[in-house]
Amino acid sequence: MEVIDFNKQNSILNQFIAEIRDVNIQKDQLRFRRNLERIGEIMALEVSKKLNYVTKDVQTPLGVSTINVPEEDIVLGTVFRAGLPLHQGFHNYFDHCENAFVSAYRKYLDEVNFDVHIEYMASPKLDGKTLILVDPMLATGNSMYLAYRALLLKGTPARIHLCSVIAAQAGVDYVCKMFPQDITTLWCAAVDPELNSHAYIIPGLGDAGDLCFGEK
Ligand code: URA
Repeated sequence: MEVIDFNKQNSILNQFIAEIRDVNIQKDQLRFRRNLERIGEIMALEVSKKLNYVTKDVQTPLGVSTINVPEEDIVLGTVFRAGLPLHQGFHNYFDHCENAFVSAYRKYLDEVNFDVHIEYMASPKLDGKTLILVDPMLATGNSMYLAYRALLLKGTPARIHLCSVIAAQAGVDYVCKMFPQDITTLWCAAVDPELNSHAYIIPGLGDAGDLCFGEK
């Protein structure tokens, strides 16, 4: 599986990552959500460079222009709830795509241990399509994998792009093990070294869902 870590190169994306991590700037929820959306837009542009294209003639008022446009049928899938602003960013660019939603939440068994539960899934058919599955925080990788498993009820995608903003190395390793190698690309804006005992990413940024929408 190809793993792309944007943190390995300098770009304006780093500014947005710095802001969503910053404990003071995080107090501005609107800015936090808008930064996730901007990150989604940048990631969408990068993912678009890997798609298949078809040549099209466009009639302008003054002539005909020939241009390559993406030919893949894209389904943009998102894991609730923190995925919503990231989804919006991708959707701003892939505005012709279909959309899928999966809810995943941690059900705590005690202070530390939890299961991830999938309760809701809404998706168009996936057979032969390109699935872009976005989840801002790739911690253990379990939510991403269970969301994908739920979506498989709707068919088998031809191509998969997994897009995460901050990933833990453990999540990257898990995803690399569990997803089909030959058709999957994992995109991360940053890869952090550790998970704490509650499976939060360290240094990470905290709880992305709470930072977007308030505490549960
Ligand atoms: N989800 C979050 O919001 N943050 C983490 O660090 C891990 C999972």
